[in-house]
Amino acid sequence: QAKQQGRSQHRFYSPEINARLQERLTVENELRGALERGEMVVYYQPLIDLRSRQITAVEALVRWQHPTRGLISPAKFIPIAEDNGLIISIGEWVLRTACEQNRTWQLAGMAPIRMSVNLSARQFEKPNLVEIVKQILQETELSALYLELEVTESFLMGDVQRSITTLKQLRELGLWLALDDFGTGYSSLNYLNRFPVNMLKIDQSFVQNVTSNSDSAAVTDAIIALAKSLQLKITAEGVETQEQLEYLEQRGCHEGQGYYFGIPAPAEKITELLKLNSQQLEHLVA
Ligand code: C2E
Ligand code: MG
Ligand code: MG
Ligand code: MG
Repeated sequence: QAKQQGRSQHRFYSPEINARLQERLTVENELRGALERGEMVVYYQPLIDLRSRQITAVEALVRWQHPTRGLISPAKFIPIAEDNGLIISIGEWVLRTACEQNRTWQLAGMAPIRMSVNLSARQFEKPNLVEIVKQILQETELSALYLELEVTESFLMGDVQRSITTLKQLRELGLWLALDDFGTGYSSLNYLNRFPVNMLKIDQSFVQNVTSNSDSAAVTDAIIALAKSLQLKITAEGVETQEQLEYLEQRGCHEGQGYYFGIPAPAEKITELLKLNSQQLEHLVA
């Protein structure tokens, strides 16, 4: 068979590809049950208001604490979990954990912040999504005001009419909606104003080159202008330097997220930052 299909087929049998397939199969097997074994952890990364310099939100970012291989990044297992459907249970667990955490911080007297949670296409397509979100908010007693869900254009563009309906229903719960990785997907400006979202997150690929590459700067400027004219809040992802921060500040970007402000960290680490946050707020009020 391979011979018949010619030389290009040969690549499928190379040891390198074979090793990658093997690796993927191993990950896939081990991923089943990882949630039940308690191996998933949620890290949180601060989002900073560029005017007040306060933490106004955190983004929940899942990691897999593998018993032998250490901490595995979501880029490695989320795509696999999306293929085999495990993302549904992982995503629901992340949402519940993140909402619980936000409620815990509020009960501990921290100044309230938004909790931002990524949704995958598979979750978004499920007819019971709105019901599940509503239920988790009730269970965790978190007000929807303090929950934000991140969606991407690429999966909204599948069935636009249905996406609009789902987004509207989510908004009716009182939560916030953000378009993640904005500028990288199949952007249709035509649809943007029909998606009832509150904010755009400029993809880090633009932000990281904003001071070194004029094309990235132009795209960033255009996204900020677009967000403003549509009255959307704008967050820059992947802010790593003072120069990038100054650029974004000058252009009137509202929020920043990136290593410059803080890397994703376990809840306890964020608790320490939030304590400082509330102290500063109290100071402002007093
Ligand atoms: P994302 O939603 O765009 O999240 C931002 C990613 O950029 C995170 O990667 C974060 O650690 C990284 N990042 C933040 N600041 C900087 C910076 O200054 N420089 C650089 N180089 N990177 C920065 P992470 O945590 O590895 O997550 C990767 C992606 O995995 C996320 O991208 C998101 O699409 C997905 N993901 C993470 N957690 C979840 C989840 O619970 N559910 C779903 N469906 N997807 C998730
Ligand atoms: Mg995100
Ligand atoms: Mg994303
Ligand atoms: Mg992003």
